[in-house]
Amino acid sequence: MLTPPHYASSLPGFFHRSITLPPPPAPRIVALNTELAQQLGLDVDWLHSAEGLAFLSCGMLPHREGISSGPVATAYAGHQFGQFVPSLGDGRAALIADCQTKDGHPLELQIKGTGPTPFSRNGDGRNTLGPALREYLVSEAMHALGIPTTRALAVLTTGDMVERNDGPVPGAQIVRVARSHIRVGSFQYAAAHGGLDHVRQLADFTIQRLFPDLTAKGPERYLALLKVAIKRQAQLVAHWMEVGFIHGVMNTDNCALSGETLDYGPCAFMDQFDPMKRFSFIDKDGRYAYGRQPALALWNLSRLAECLFPLFDDDEDKAIEKAQEALQDYDHLFHHAWLAGFRRKLGLAEQDEHDIRLLEHILETMHTGQADFTNAFRMMGSPEVAIKNDYSALRELFPGNKGHFDLCRTEILHRLTLEKRSAEARQQAMQATNPRIIPRNHQIETALSQAIKGDYQPFHHLHNALKTPFAEAEDGLDAAPRPEEEVRYTFCGT
Ligand code: AMP
Ligand code: MG
Repeated sequence: MLTPPHYASSLPGFFHRSITLPPPPAPRIVALNTELAQQLGLDVDWLHSAEGLAFLSCGMLPHREGISSGPVATAYAGHQFGQFVPSLGDGRAALIADCQTKDGHPLELQIKGTGPTPFSRNGDGRNTLGPALREYLVSEAMHALGIPTTRALAVLTTGDMVERNDGPVPGAQIVRVARSHIRVGSFQYAAAHGGLDHVRQLADFTIQRLFPDLTAKGPERYLALLKVAIKRQAQLVAHWMEVGFIHGVMNTDNCALSGETLDYGPCAFMDQFDPMKRFSFIDKDGRYAYGRQPALALWNLSRLAECLFPLFDDDEDKAIEKAQEALQDYDHLFHHAWLAGFRRKLGLAEQDEHDIRLLEHILETMHTGQADFTNAFRMMGSPEVAIKNDYSALRELFPGNKGHFDLCRTEILHRLTLEKRSAEARQQAMQATNPRIIPRNHQIETALSQAIKGDYQPFHHLHNALKTPFAEAEDGLDAAPRPEEEVRYTFCGT
């Protein structure tokens, strides 16, 4: 059942602006997530009807009688690459509805590619086909990998063209679904333009919406909100690290309190392991490089704490102390999640105090050995390696440093003597943890360029395969890019 966005009805106009979305000239669904639609109780035939199209493309709810509120663009601020921008907001997006999953969790639906909003600044408010399909592919792949993320319900072409640097490109919209789009930047907006009452109002709404189980009362309630946000981010970034995901724009306006991966711009999965890997063309200094993500998440959470801390205690010093204590937990929470995740990747069910050293050695060897991150872990869990102890094919994945690899191999074999479960059980657990396929940049680029020319077959093929990333298949999609295929940069409008 679709209802108007609670964000609009529960929070005052300070937090959002009502907008009317102009109907696109010729909206057409080019990708529809029928499984997600069903989970949301949305009838697929209805989504294809004129009424369904009006909903997906301009947020028109069916049975509108008696409904006063329509789509809203939400207000937020944000630190972009470390610089505070006091007023950002949904410049090309709007919340259009709420709905519930079958098990009763509330979700928000948002259109990205609305046309101008009061927050568009100099932008045109538009989205284009390449980035919309990219978000659809990558966010759904993240979901299939078991990583919290916004989901993609549909991509529509608008029927007109949008001007971009390289000339006109097809206009498009993506309809995405999230537990909530509230960001660290939403709190920064409340603190910068409102005051403590606004921060409290947003915090109350966030708790009610996202964390109804938080039972703490009074000031402790807001401290509990910060703590749960810290925990979610720590777990999220640990997940990203486990699959080689680089978000690319970890600005505070792209950091969701829900702990969902938000905003798929220049993000990418790395092929060869490199802790300083970055793809985003605008990230010149590697601020958001792979290995810097855990520290950057803490930086973002510190900005959240700066907004919330006055709610923790009337005594400012005590309030700051509580915020600092909560932030200090981050490193421990991240490290715990990260180590547990990589132990799973290595199929280590037991815990040994030297595991961290072993892991660092493996990662270092992947780096110097120029190993493909996904394929190397996948092969470690193959029957040849994990059951027969035959490391010869795996060794070939480390062309840059086979000597280091040989050393690493002895360390791994030594560590495995501590494991109690059978090699078969370990191997199966590893195959269920290390994906065979991830959305590799070069494959995405090929699928998107074909789609833009009108052939959606490669896009659907890739999307379908990414639904079962852990399953064995002979589709060739696990191949790392050849040097000439490698995509080195991604762009915000990628
Ligand atoms: P993003 O890089 O997508 O996180 O966007 C950062 C900010 O720029 C947000 O406030 C967006 O709404 C805004 N923005 C991005 N692209 C456009 C556009 N084409 N038109 C208007 N605003 C935009
Ligand atoms: Mg954003």
